[in-house]
Amino acid sequence: MSAFDILSRHKLKRTACREGIINTLIDASIALSEDEIKSKLAAHFDRTTLYRSFKTLEEKRIIHKVVVDNLMIKYALGDALSKKAEHPHFYCKRCEMVQCLDSTDIEVPRLPHGYAFSEAELIIKGVCVNCKSTHYNE
Ligand SMILES: [Zn+2]
Ligand SMILES: [Zn+2]
Repeated sequence: MSAFDILSRHKLKRTACREGIINTLIDASIALSEDEIKSKLAAHFDRTTLYRSFKTLEEKRIIHKVVVDNLMIKYALGDALSKKAEHPHFYCKRCEMVQCLDSTDIEVPRLPHGYAFSEAELIIKGVCVNCKSTHYNE
């Protein structure tokens, strides 16, 4: 699916910024930070345009935020694109790559009596396949 299809499916106007963000994430296939996305965009957009585009795409669930910690926030394509709404994310401690694990389920642990579940976030930390195959120690 192209950025154009995604935007029209969500009845959003095509803008260079929105299309750029979506295309960058399609190409990357991993989660990227705002700065990483910015550096890959062909054109320069001002802060406000970028901020608004991220916000709109997030509201429409075309992209979703992955909060690894206060210093690392990444974006990935969202569940509007057939991804499960709840899925864990993988963080590679070596290359700092963040990826959606959309074929892995999050199991919600049993909650204390009277507590209601709303959502769960899970970040799994480890070493990704690329890093593992290039350095076999550790
Ligand atoms: Zn890695
Ligand atoms: Zn994800």
